[in-house]
Amino acid sequence: MVKIGVLGLQGAVREHVTSLEASGAEAVIVKRSEQLEELDGLIIPGGESTTMRRLIDKYDFMQPLRDFASEGKPMFGTCAGLILLAKNIVGYDAPHLGLMDITVERNAFGRQKESFEAELMITGVAEDFVGVFIRAPYIVEVGEDVEVLSKHHERIVAARQGQYLGCAFHPELTDDYRFAQYFVNMVKESK
Ligand code: GLN
Repeated sequence: MVKIGVLGLQGAVREHVTSLEASGAEAVIVKRSEQLEELDGLIIPGGESTTMRRLIDKYDFMQPLRDFASEGKPMFGTCAGLILLAKNIVGYDAPHLGLMDITVERNAFGRQKESFEAELMITGVAEDFVGVFIRAPYIVEVGEDVEVLSKHHERIVAARQGQYLGCAFHPELTDDYRFAQYFVNMVKESK
């Protein structure tokens, strides 16, 4: 069984654990960077990217997360996690982890749409996946190695680049585990 961590510094952590377990993986809440060594893959959850970044620095996670990535291990960023993975963030000089060749814009759906649900077609995952968007970012631009997996009204809301998977919504907040299953399969294939 693959062992997948959920970065447990802040945000929607437990729900990802439930989704991973329902998808046939062993799930671990990661609170110390040494825990990364025993994992096959990692989810960076939704929450608040600025807060999560502060905690990543405070608990010395930055280099260990970059090392984890350079070993080729799969990483899945959801919502704030997507922002943490991105190489470019609109309006910011520097990224956080800067691993995935995408440009994201924070809180990009605007005030009126702070929170909403939308049925999405996600390539390789589902034709009718309900995406829960909460002060969500979206992907403004992707590099040439990035596969766009889903769009909502012409805005890119899910993408994959090799070992990296990201989405603007919160798949863990529904009991539809097909997106979690897709990531678990990515992790299995990477072993
Ligand atoms: N707006 C948040 C941020 O910029 C992300 C929101 C979320 O993860 N639900 O980090």
